Amino acid sequence: MKKRNVAFGYRYENGKISVNKNEEKVIRKIFDSYLAGMSLIQIASILNDEKIEYMPSVIGWNKARVMRIIDDERYSGNEMYPQIITYETHEKLKCLKESKSTQQDVDRNNIIYNLYAPVMCKKCGEKMTRHYTRHGIKKEIWSCPSKACTRGVVISDQELIKKIAECLSTIIKDPDMIQIKERSNISNNDSKIQQEIEMAHAENRDNVTEMIFQSISDKYDCIDSETYIAMRIKHIFCDTALDETSLPYLLKKTVKKIILGREPSVCIMLLNNQIIESEE
Ligand SMILES: [Zn+2]
Repeated sequence: MKKRNVAFGYRYENGKISVNKNEEKVIRKIFDSYLAGMSLIQIASILNDEKIEYMPSVIGWNKARVMRIIDDERYSGNEMYPQIITYETHEKLKCLKESKSTQQDVDRNNIIYNLYAPVMCKKCGEKMTRHYTRHGIKKEIWSCPSKACTRGVVISDQELIKKIAECLSTIIKDPDMIQIKERSNISNNDSKIQQEIEMAHAENRDNVTEMIFQSISDKYDCIDSETYIAMRIKHIFCDTALDETSLPYLLKKTVKKIILGREPSVCIMLLNNQIIESEE
């Protein structure tokens, strides 16, 4: 995956970060459009229509990329990054975003019945079940079937979903945290090809070509399923902004288990077996 060295809107010059004038215009346009009530998708499609590059020779704007720019506090300036928007504008954006997300609380109530991933006990690893009690204050309890852990974990649906969303948003902010294992056990084969190429005479060029193809095919075979899954979910996190519609989608496509601890604490295990805790 290509990566920018500095945030969109800036350039690195003589050891210092300065404003990239062309990209600065794009940032202002994103902020103005969002404050004017345009949705992330609408903004992304305008940028794509105008063929604005997100990084050199890459256009591909989407909801997640626009959202990341709106969320980025660096644009209101800090010691390293010169200011592009005022602090007040940044605050206005934050308020607007929050008011949009409270409208989503209603939809969130149903997510609890469609978590896709099972909720597991952090202590013993058993699958927990949700109960709802109306004694005194109504509350949700998750209980573990194991005799060793008879006590339930009290956590409201809203709190549980909020914590799951926090874990997912931690990854969306930095999809590079998805670990993709590098495979190095095929390098022997590469050096053999190198020797062969060095010694190659005209008559066995075909042989070398065949070996190169074989090596490429071996490399694909060596991308084991875990690496493949990690790459696939990383791709999903790069391209998804967290909202009421994407939360179930992310749970379904990226999460293997939700791990619930007594405190109560929540973390998620992704399909590549990586455990993610929420940033707090
Ligand atoms: Zn347990």
